Amino acid sequence: MPETVIIGAGIQGATLALAALERGVCPILVDRDDQPSGASVNSYGIVHGGLRYLQSMNIPRWVRSRRAQNWYIDRYPHQVRPLRCVMPLYAGAPRSPRLFALARGFDRMLRTALGQHVPLPEDGACSRQEVLQAYDVASHGLLGGAVWYDAQLLNPPALLREMLAEVEQRGGVVLRSTEVTGLIEQGGRLQAVQLRNASDGREQRIAADRLFDCGGAQAGRCMGPARRVPSAAVLAFNLLMDIPAPPASDAYALSPTPGRGRSFFFRRYGAATLVGTFYRPAPGILSPEPTAEDVRSALSSIRQCLPNVELDEGSVLATYAGLLPDRDGSGRALHPGDRHLRPGPEGYHMLVSGKLTTAPLLSEQVARRLWPAAPLPRAGGWRPRHA
Ligand SMILES: Cc1cc2nc3c(=O)[nH]c(=O)nc-3n(C[C@H](O)[C@H](O)[C@H](O)COP(=O)(O)OP(=O)(O)OC[C@H]3O[C@@H](n4cnc5c(N)ncnc54)[C@H](O)[C@@H]3O)c2cc1C
Repeated sequence: MPETVIIGAGIQGATLALAALERGVCPILVDRDDQPSGASVNSYGIVHGGLRYLQSMNIPRWVRSRRAQNWYIDRYPHQVRPLRCVMPLYAGAPRSPRLFALARGFDRMLRTALGQHVPLPEDGACSRQEVLQAYDVASHGLLGGAVWYDAQLLNPPALLREMLAEVEQRGGVVLRSTEVTGLIEQGGRLQAVQLRNASDGREQRIAADRLFDCGGAQAGRCMGPARRVPSAAVLAFNLLMDIPAPPASDAYALSPTPGRGRSFFFRRYGAATLVGTFYRPAPGILSPEPTAEDVRSALSSIRQCLPNVELDEGSVLATYAGLLPDRDGSGRALHPGDRHLRPGPEGYHMLVSGKLTTAPLLSEQVARRLWPAAPLPRAGGWRPRHA
C-alpha cells in the first residue's frame, strides 16, 4: 500500500505529521539530520501576534497569529511563556503613543467581536522613566513605551523533540539521518520516494502516493533541476551578545532610527542578550552561515539601537542562523505568508511557511482539506528495513 511521506522534521513537517495522525493517516516523517537543526531550532522563538500586526492594519494576519498563539498555549503550555514586549516611542516619530492607543483599542474590539480570547495579559503602555530604568535605550525625545504580550517558546529544539516523540507514540514513523534524494513519477503521478541514509549512504525506495515537502528553504530540491523550484533563500540570523540585557520577563523592540523603520528584539538569554532578527538575500546558498560582513553590519545596527552601550566583534558569543523561503525566487525579500504549492506530479505537495508562528495552522488547513473525514488509523504501516 502506498505511503504518505513528509520531508522535514522542522515545525512545518512535525505539525503536519501530527495533523495527519489526528485524521487517521500514519505518515513517514523523514529528516536528513538526526536532531532538529533547521530554521525552526535557530529561530528567535516568538509566536507573534496582536499589536505587531495592527500597526499595519493587517487584520487577516492578526486573526491567524492570535489563533496560532492559542494553538501553542493550548497544546504545549509547558513550552510557552508570556513575553512582555516593550517598544520605546519617540516624539515626532510615526510610531506614536496615539497610534498604539488606537491599535490597543482596536485589538480589544477585534478580540471581543471575533471571540479570539488569548490567555495572555492585556496590552498597555509604560512611562519614559520605566523604560529608562529597565533598559539603557536612546533617551533623546523618548516619550514612553508601548507594551504588548507575545508567546515565547522556551526551548524550540525541546518542543520539536516532544512533537516527534508524539508522532512515534501515535503510530507514525520518524526516519532520522535520512535524506529524500528524489521522487519517481509515472504518467504525472507520484509513485515512490527515493531515500539515502546519511550515515552509511544506503539507498532505498518507498512506494508513496503522497509526498509533503516541508524542507523549509530547501523545499523542492528533491524534484531535481528539471522542475522550477518556486523559492530561493533569505539568510536570517540572531546574535548572542555579551551586552547588558533587559529584565528577564521582557523583550525590547528597538530600531536603529528611534521610533521608525525595522526593529530588532533584545532579550535576556542565560547571562547574555539575544538580538535579532537580521536578514539578507541569499539566493542559491545551501548553508546558513553569516559572513564577517553580515556580523559587522548587524553590530552597526545594534550600536544605533543602544547608543550608550560599548560593543565590538568580541561581544558576539554565538550566532543562530537559518535559511528562509523568499517572496519571488530572487532571494531579495522574505515571504512572510504561508503557501501550499503543487509544482510537481500529482501527489506532491509543498508547504512553505515564512513563520514558526503560523506553521501549525497551515498544517491543519492542508490536513483538513486533504483528509476531511478521518478514517480509522491503519494498523501496522511501513517500517524501516533495518527495524
Ligand atoms: C534566525 C531566525 C529567527 C526567526 N525568528 C522567528 C520568530 O521569532 N518567530 C517566528 O514565527 N518565526 C521565526 N523565524 C522563522 C521560522 O523559524 C521559520 O519560518 C520556520 O521555522 C520554518 O520551519 P520549517 O519546518 O518550514 O523549516 P525548517 O525548520 O528549516 O525545517 C526543514 C527541515 O527539512 C529538512 N530537510 C530539507 N530537505 C530535506 C530532504 N531532502 N530530505 C530530508 N530532510 C530535509 C531539514 O534538515 C530541516 O530539518 C525565524 C527564523 C530564523 C532563521
